[in-house]
Amino acid sequence: MTKATNSSSPINPPDSNQSGRNFDASSEPSGGQPVPQRQPRPFIGIQFKCCQTYGRIYRNHEATAYAGNCPRCGKRVYVPIRHGGGSSRFFSAG
Ligand SMILES: [Zn+2]
Repeated sequence: MTKATNSSSPINPPDSNQSGRNFDASSEPSGGQPVPQRQPRPFIGIQFKCCQTYGRIYRNHEATAYAGNCPRCGKRVYVPIRHGGGSSRFFSAG
């Protein structure tokens, strides 16, 4: 005996399921785009040769280089950002 596969079973949910629930659009922006938020300034770890110390310097506003000062002697370091290259994330200066 074979079961009837094409029986008229209700597939669509009743309308009361949709009409009674409002979509909360305030929690999620339309389009699924993430809310833009301030990104932290990128930085690199750097070895200051002048004082044999390790620190970090932050990227400048133009995004052309990382610039900072030695935490001990205050010597200014400047590491240009190379586009398309630079496999190392570790630098040394001083
Ligand atoms: Zn130093």
